[in-house]
Amino acid sequence: MNPFTDQPIPLIDPRSCNGCGLCMRACPTRALMLRDGKAVVTDPLACEYSGLCEAVCPTGAITRPFEIVIAEEETNATHE
Ligand code: SF4
Repeated sequence: MNPFTDQPIPLIDPRSCNGCGLCMRACPTRALMLRDGKAVVTDPLACEYSGLCEAVCPTGAITRPFEIVIAEEETNATHE
């Protein structure tokens, strides 16, 4: 979760990351960097959740969590 906006950010499993840097190069907003040879979302505010990082990762180290929100039923609806 993005600590500044409460929006989700991609999850990166450091055990699966091989440090190839493809996600970094694919990110249009440069939200990812390599630290100690592992990909990290270093600029969570820049992340637009495009999914390009997830798509290019050759090891499946990146996943993007989604929250499913079920809308409340309208209370003013007329039922017959
Ligand atoms: S593309 Fe995947 S394996 Fe390569 S640096 Fe990014 S997270 Fe790691």
